[in-house]
Formats: sequence, structure tokens, C-alpha cells
Amino acid sequence: MGFNIAIDGPAGAGKSTIAKQVALKKGCVYVDTGAMYRGLAVHFLKNGIRPEETDKIVHACADADVSIGYEDGNQQVYLNGENITGMLRDEAVGDMASKSSQLPEVREKLLELQRSLAREKDVVMDGRDIGTNILPNADVKVFLTASVETRAKRRYDELVQKGIVCDIKQIADDIKERDHRDMTRETAPLKQAEDAVLIDSSEMSIEEVTEAILKLCR
Ligand code: C5P
Repeated sequence: MGFNIAIDGPAGAGKSTIAKQVALKKGCVYVDTGAMYRGLAVHFLKNGIRPEETDKIVHACADADVSIGYEDGNQQVYLNGENITGMLRDEAVGDMASKSSQLPEVREKLLELQRSLAREKDVVMDGRDIGTNILPNADVKVFLTASVETRAKRRYDELVQKGIVCDIKQIADDIKERDHRDMTRETAPLKQAEDAVLIDSSEMSIEEVTEAILKLCR
């Protein structure tokens, strides 16, 4: 078993930014599990499936092979051998990932991939159920959160920087809806593990949150 750091939390809490920093400082591999759910979502969409067609989603899991690799230290996602990393951030993919990840069959599909990576390497793994379900014996567990307003503002600034016109209220509503789905699903809902340390990053800088997690590792 490698040294495992689990970071869970709601959408837009800054998990991936922080996890990457921690991984860099600790010499660990960063594993983004949301990207795996997004990889499966690409498969469902490629098959012309809509998010509400749950039977078809379950059926389509059988011929999806999601794997990950690294290029210049950046995680790449492969779907049936094809590098689909460039497609993962599409809005439709995020929506499909949020909805399809509620299904136990979809979660089961990615469970062993996530656990095997943590067995083989020292990892910082982020997601929604890492500390509670995937790596219950992780060495360090963090539940990283921030207020809805902060998370919406961060996402808004990110999109504006990319030149995308957007509405901050719409972003906040979308975040609330995704949080609700993640927290109320039956299989592996998003919640703080009993032994996880809660960090609210609303009033903290990236450096401060990174340092707080590194301290937990000492
Ligand atoms: O974190 P990210 O937004 O990329 O994840 C995409 C979706 O995958 C989330 O909306 C969430 O519903 C789901 N997810 C999950 N469990 C994880 C990681 C992501 O259910 N460990």
C-alpha cells in the first residue's frame, strides 16, 4: 500500500488545484477520480445516451474501458484506448457525469481502478467518496469545502478568464443541484468521513490550504 491522501468535497471547492500542489510537494501521484466519471460519461454520450436513460447507461458500462496515464505529470484519461482528456471539461460531459455517477453499476466500474492505483503508488486522490469508501484506510483524509458563493465566484472568474460569457446565479444554482445529487444518492454519497479533517477554504489562499494539508502529513 502506498502513502494515501484522500481529499473529498463538493464541486468547485478547489480539490484538484490543492491536490496537485500537495502531490507536487509530497512527490505523490495526483489521481483525479472525477475525470474517470467524466471519461465514462463521454462513452455514454458517444453512444447517444441521455442522462435519464439509466438502463442504457448500465448496459453501456460493459463495453467501456477507462484507464489513466500521465503525460508531463498531467493525468490523461483513455476510453477504450483513445485519449479523450480534451473532452472531459465539456458542460454536457459534466452533467452526464454528475447524473450517471449516482448509479451503483457506474461506481462499481471505477472502484478497482481507483483502489489499485492507491495500492501501487503514493497518491493524492480527490473525489467524493475516497475517504469514506474507496480508501477507508488512507493515511490522511481531508474534507475540503467552501461556501456556495465562493465556489460560484471561483468558477465564474475561471470562465470569464477563458472569455466565456456566463451568469453567476446560474452557476450557483448548478453547483447546488450537483451537491444535492452527490449528497443524497444511495450509493457512496458525498459526506465527511468520521476521521477526515474539515477544511473550509472560503477565506483561505491556495498556499494556506496546501500548507494545512502538508502539516497533517507530518
Ligand atoms: O469532480 P468532477 O466535477 O470532475 O466530477 C464529475 C462528477 O463525478 C461529479 O459531479 C460527481 O457527481 C462525480 N464524482 C463522484 N465520485 C467521485 C468523483 C466524481 O461521484 N469520486
